Amino acid sequence: MTSDASAFYFPAPRAQRFCSQCGTPISQIVPPDDNRLRDACGRCGAVHYQNPRNVVGVLPIWQDKVLLCRRAIEPRYNTWTLPAGFMELGETTAQGAMRETQEEAGAQIELGSLYTIIDVPHADQVHFFYLARVLSPKLYPGPESLDARFFGLDRIPWDELAFRTVATTLEHYMADVSEGSFPMRHYDIGSPVPTTPV
Ligand SMILES: [Zn+2]
Repeated sequence: MTSDASAFYFPAPRAQRFCSQCGTPISQIVPPDDNRLRDACGRCGAVHYQNPRNVVGVLPIWQDKVLLCRRAIEPRYNTWTLPAGFMELGETTAQGAMRETQEEAGAQIELGSLYTIIDVPHADQVHFFYLARVLSPKLYPGPESLDARFFGLDRIPWDELAFRTVATTLEHYMADVSEGSFPMRHYDIGSPVPTTPV
């Protein structure tokens, strides 16, 4: 047993400082037959590839209302989001979306079709949102949520939404409700417009 348990835990930055194979400090090189800089170990030769992460979630509907969760975690603490989170190893996108809904809202849902696929290259992420039907109005928000509630489409807190992928997915849904059809959409979200330096 060691007694060096941290007082708190946080997601480590993606960039690694040391080789996970041998502990040598990482350097950036273009490996043979590759075409871009990679984090690599000059001692043992391990190349530490980094690839985009998948965020999976749902747009859950209960009697014409949308289920949103108020985030209890950073980033975007205290803002409203669709249930969503990072896909875990060994699960499908659908399983991940169901799991996140259970963890964040405690909601029973029936998963529908894939609705939005959103590339977010500046965050090195791809977001997937499924349509879902909520089976019971009973919600049991988990520790990642301050609250979970149903919002009428005319009551969506647009100014307090956590992420642009959430906002654009809801915007598409509003438009599709008017049209009565819900085609899958694939689009990308660019970098936020930089603010003028002061
Ligand atoms: Zn190494």
